[in-house]
Amino acid sequence: MDGHSNVAEQLKILKKEYPTAKYYLDFSNPLQLLVAAILSAQCRDEVVNSCTKELFKKYKTAGDFSKLDESDIKSITFFKNKAKNIREACKILDAAYGVPQTMEGLTELPGIGRKTANVILANAFNIILGIPVDTHYIRVSYRLGWTKSKNPDIIERDSMNLIPKSEWKIVPHLLKAHGRAVCKPIPECSRCCVNNLCPKNGVTKST
Ligand code: SF4
Repeated sequence: MDGHSNVAEQLKILKKEYPTAKYYLDFSNPLQLLVAAILSAQCRDEVVNSCTKELFKKYKTAGDFSKLDESDIKSITFFKNKAKNIREACKILDAAYGVPQTMEGLTELPGIGRKTANVILANAFNIILGIPVDTHYIRVSYRLGWTKSKNPDIIERDSMNLIPKSEWKIVPHLLKAHGRAVCKPIPECSRCCVNNLCPKNGVTKST
């Protein structure tokens, strides 16, 4: 079985195992997603969703967020720095035309790297330019044999070469679901749905 067909088979099984896999952060417009995505760096999705539930009632526009009070996001890791990035980003958005729909426009904003830009483009605008690689993606894609690297840029490129573009949006959701449920830092390979297709089946270390 070549690399592409092995991946296709793995994805087929993961889709069946996690039929409701979707983006985990709550939002109802691109601005809310931009704010939630900035808050989510090194912070659990449940904590972000709990914070934004109240935050989005109080702050509606980029102009509102340009005056964000850091105490309103104090449950979030690195909240001072993130509040500053949100204020700065939203000052730029307030003076422009809203949330940019290009990789270049997004990555020029404070607090937005390629991963976050991919997330915003895919989930707010359905513009698929790449694959957002987070810690779950790094760990699970490595174990599944999709890459030999731990570098997010190289991992993204390797995945884009292996996986058809039509799957790029769902793949991060599937790997996150699998990384949370089974392929955790210490994986539970014996109950894994893709263990017979995984080159790291039986791994015991957090690699
Ligand atoms: S077999 Fe183990 S290492 Fe491979 S994907 Fe499943 S849980 Fe992860």
